[in-house]
Amino acid sequence: MGKKFILILTAVAALVVLLFIVLNPGNSEEESVLEETSQDTEPQVFENSPDIDGQPTEGDNDAPVTIVEFGDFMCPACSAWGEEYYPQLKGDFIDTGDVQFAYVNTLFHGEQSEKAALAAESVFNQAPEAYWDFHHALFEAQESDNHHSEWVTDELITELVDTHTSLDASDVLEDIENQSFQDELNIDEALNVEFGIQLTPTILINNRMIEDPFDYDEIRTVINEELEES
Ligand code: CA
Repeated sequence: MGKKFILILTAVAALVVLLFIVLNPGNSEEESVLEETSQDTEPQVFENSPDIDGQPTEGDNDAPVTIVEFGDFMCPACSAWGEEYYPQLKGDFIDTGDVQFAYVNTLFHGEQSEKAALAAESVFNQAPEAYWDFHHALFEAQESDNHHSEWVTDELITELVDTHTSLDASDVLEDIENQSFQDELNIDEALNVEFGIQLTPTILINNRMIEDPFDYDEIRTVINEELEES
């Protein structure tokens, strides 16, 4: 009798172990799916906001909320965002003193991205007051052409520097050639790595990464939440 009892106990224990092994992968799979779903629907929150020291900014230095755009002059979505959403953001929050806006270069399109960014850093460092005009003009120049073509030519840079800044265009071209502001691009790249930038434009409101930069309601909601907390 005793032996039978032990045999039954062993069989039950084996069944329990077997069930555990069979069911457990299913459970953990379910859990990981749930985790992915919740990550998809909540803005990613970082420990810190990006350090914007040395970056071009617009708006009040003492504004309670900081927004950082990670953008690429070669990126059509960035150009569209700048045209459709930036003016609204500027009117609603930047001009009112609630938000300071900063732009960080993301170089997703190789040499042309780098050339445009080096030109912009050169203008920013030598004529900061002309930076935003030059910045918007560069994005507008993209729209008149196929963004995959090599549209960031010396001729275009010369034309934009002459039109939008008081700088000598040959100085800016020299800065591009000599990579005079490569250190600035390295600082930008470090920020891209720190915040794991995968797409442009990426918008961070303080330390919160907006899920969809083309959802102005989300942008407005997060800004207002951050203003309430400030
Ligand atoms: Ca920069």
